[in-house]
Amino acid sequence: DEPLLSVTKFEELNLGPDLLKGIYEMGFTTPSKIQAKALPLLLKKPPQNMIGQSQSGTGKTAAFVLTMLSRIDFNLKSPQALCLTPSRELARQIMVEVRKMGKYTPVITAEAIRESHIRGNRSRHEEFAEAQLIVGTPGTVYDLLKKHVIEKKHMKIFVLDEADNMLDQQGLGDQSIRIKNMMPRECQIVLFSATYSSEVRTFATRFAPNANQFSLKVEELSVKTIKQFYMDCKNEDHKFEVLDDLYTLLTIGQSIIFVQKRETADRIAKRMTEKGHKVINLHGGLSTTERDEVMDGFRKGSAKVLITTNVLSRGIDVLQVNLVINYDIPMDLSGRNPDYETYLHRIGRTGRFGRSGVSINFVHDPVSWEVVKSIEKHFQREIVRVPTDDWDVVEK
Ligand code: ADP
Ligand code: MG
Repeated sequence: DEPLLSVTKFEELNLGPDLLKGIYEMGFTTPSKIQAKALPLLLKKPPQNMIGQSQSGTGKTAAFVLTMLSRIDFNLKSPQALCLTPSRELARQIMVEVRKMGKYTPVITAEAIRESHIRGNRSRHEEFAEAQLIVGTPGTVYDLLKKHVIEKKHMKIFVLDEADNMLDQQGLGDQSIRIKNMMPRECQIVLFSATYSSEVRTFATRFAPNANQFSLKVEELSVKTIKQFYMDCKNEDHKFEVLDDLYTLLTIGQSIIFVQKRETADRIAKRMTEKGHKVINLHGGLSTTERDEVMDGFRKGSAKVLITTNVLSRGIDVLQVNLVINYDIPMDLSGRNPDYETYLHRIGRTGRFGRSGVSINFVHDPVSWEVVKSIEKHFQREIVRVPTDDWDVVEK
């Protein structure tokens, strides 16, 4: 085991002036903790595999995007860096970061996600033949590799983002392993995860053998910077009234409302619209084109309230979100026990990168009350009661 080198400035990382220019233009002045720890390890020569874990919102994307961009030989017009993500939304989001960080490099990129429009295979072939950096979802990437649309022989770095989320979805873990097995022997394998359960650990060590490993301590969880509240609701129906009041009485920047079921999302989206609130509803029932439109609209700020279930919004990073509402408290399948990881993922949508944020939990029965108390204990952070007739407390 080597001691972890740590840096305090981007300049100390041998990133190259074009990459530095890109990241400074993005407003990054100093590396985050994970970047300071991961980048020296990732950029080492000869390349070594790496497994990194840190809570969401800590800046993992830049760590692997900068590494991918550093490894590419821009004179070689062939795929050299590949990143897998669990959803097409995330793939597109990462690609946005790639374009910003790589703005002053000549990098050629391609997204390997299920297409939202029909086009001939030929143009896809052409696109991937030239692309140097590819971001995609496991299904599509596997398909394109098998069909030799993506050429693998010059692949230098293979990154798997959000391993924990990947494993939550049927088959994505296995598919990622199959893709990994197709990579050239000397290809650097990198894995990132927000959480590190024993299941993720087992997968990670299989995925990235002999890797340098590190994780950031739980004490650094961003729940610190997020003010957590709960509101007493009389019953399930009263929750909607409280929600309606919240949005009527408060000036809220951008916010996300989390529910457990798609039906609930549809129902409250409809009722909120009837009440004159402008909301959008993101769920798995939408076509891929619709999902893209919804997320783009939210990111641009044209819609302020996003209603969604768990899966799609994991890892989604929208900086302006300053309020997260747990309309339904996250619970496991039994419907009795807290789902701590999901709670963290959800409230992690606000307070990104140390910005302050607010989360409000709706409590409406003994079970939801117990769950909020358990969450409070688990993270050792107070969840403050907001009386439903006193709104001052939650002002921005
Ligand atoms: P993670 O993947 O760990 O959840 P992200 O990579 O999505 O986190 O980063 C969270 C947010 O922090 C993003 O908005 C990103 O632009 C911002 N960010 C990342 N690194 C830095 C940095 N060094 N300085 C300022 N902002 C940063
Ligand atoms: Mg991430």
